[in-house]
Amino acid sequence: MTQTRERTVEQVTAALAGEPQAVAIHHARKVDARGVQDHFWVVCANGTIFATGTGEEEFESACRSVGIDPADDNAIIDAQGRILTPGYVDIHAHGAWEHSFDDGPEGIDIARAGHAVHGTTRQVLSLITNPVDVICRNLKNVRAKMDERPDILGAHLEGPFLALARKGAHDPECLKDPVPELVDELLEAADGCIRQITIAPELPHGISAIKQFAAAGVVPAVGHCDADYETAKRGFDAGAGIMTHMFNAMNGLHHRKPGPIPAAVEDPRVVIELINDGFHVQNPMVELGFGFAPHRIAFVTDAMAATDCPDGAYKLGALDVNVVDGHARLVSNGAIAGSTLLLEVAVQRAVNELGIAAPAAVEAATLTPAKAFGFDRPNPVTGAPLGLVAPGYAADLLLTDPTTWQVGEVWCAGRKLK
Ligand SMILES: [Zn+2]
Ligand SMILES: [Zn+2]
Repeated sequence: MTQTRERTVEQVTAALAGEPQAVAIHHARKVDARGVQDHFWVVCANGTIFATGTGEEEFESACRSVGIDPADDNAIIDAQGRILTPGYVDIHAHGAWEHSFDDGPEGIDIARAGHAVHGTTRQVLSLITNPVDVICRNLKNVRAKMDERPDILGAHLEGPFLALARKGAHDPECLKDPVPELVDELLEAADGCIRQITIAPELPHGISAIKQFAAAGVVPAVGHCDADYETAKRGFDAGAGIMTHMFNAMNGLHHRKPGPIPAAVEDPRVVIELINDGFHVQNPMVELGFGFAPHRIAFVTDAMAATDCPDGAYKLGALDVNVVDGHARLVSNGAIAGSTLLLEVAVQRAVNELGIAAPAAVEAATLTPAKAFGFDRPNPVTGAPLGLVAPGYAADLLLTDPTTWQVGEVWCAGRKLK
């Protein structure tokens, strides 16, 4: 890792461990799930959004209310028409900057910094399939990090309860049936930090495990499965609230064997993950997903350690991966081994290549992923809700270039990360 990146990791980690600052931004073009507004301003204090509006007089009085002098040019940010969005929320990623979220506390700091400087203010850390004792150790690392900083929302266990036939880049030696004792063991090690767990519902104990995790406050996800339509539907009825990376690592749409995708699409309770990199899911299928599940598509990256790094040799769990032209594949069998996508790029692609309306593209990277865990409302994990630029919401903000959609400045819970 370069010295510049090392310094960035230190700065981001220190800012997240520190106190929130008052923030005042005006002359922005606000884009969120509620729509677009020009001449927009936002004032934040104590890590949440205190007030928003479009009139300069109200802006000045809101500034004074939180102790900012509206005449002080150093304290006020003039967005000069740049785009203001909520911070991006990635609920499925494994790493970045040559490190994985399975790599211990330092690995978590580094990979998180890689995503944070590209606008992902909050992240659920995906843990790859491993022997159960290793998964338990990785869960304890996530639990400890959550207590230190506001940006880590918890863990997503991708495995070990996956279908062998749809294992993707997960180690087949470690896959298991989710018997009740094993579910208990994971829940105990996690101490409340598991947000999401991907389960193939057709496993012998698949449906009972979905019920068991849901009863413990975890959101089960249907994925890495070979389930027929009825079994997937039973999974969602049993409490699964997410479909893991729709189209990838599952049986696809077929007119006589509908499979798990229609079961997710027809169920308004289900948030559907989609990897919008044009490689995992090609553009026409991304557009199809937006068409048939409006307001329920959550962009995820499934990003691995090579994200925002040069091509070359990397690891995914214990398995060797080779990255060529940004595409990660297992050395052993050529299976796609996660992506090198950033949510910043997923939104850029949606707006500039696919022509998806900006509020819908931003919604897929902010409010919809937050909704999967009830984080769009006040909650015990984040306190303030996530996903909109509106009073009472977390002070998670991005200032973005209106043409390229490149992320400039980044705040998480009122802490400036970039
Ligand atoms: Zn996967
Ligand atoms: Zn994954």
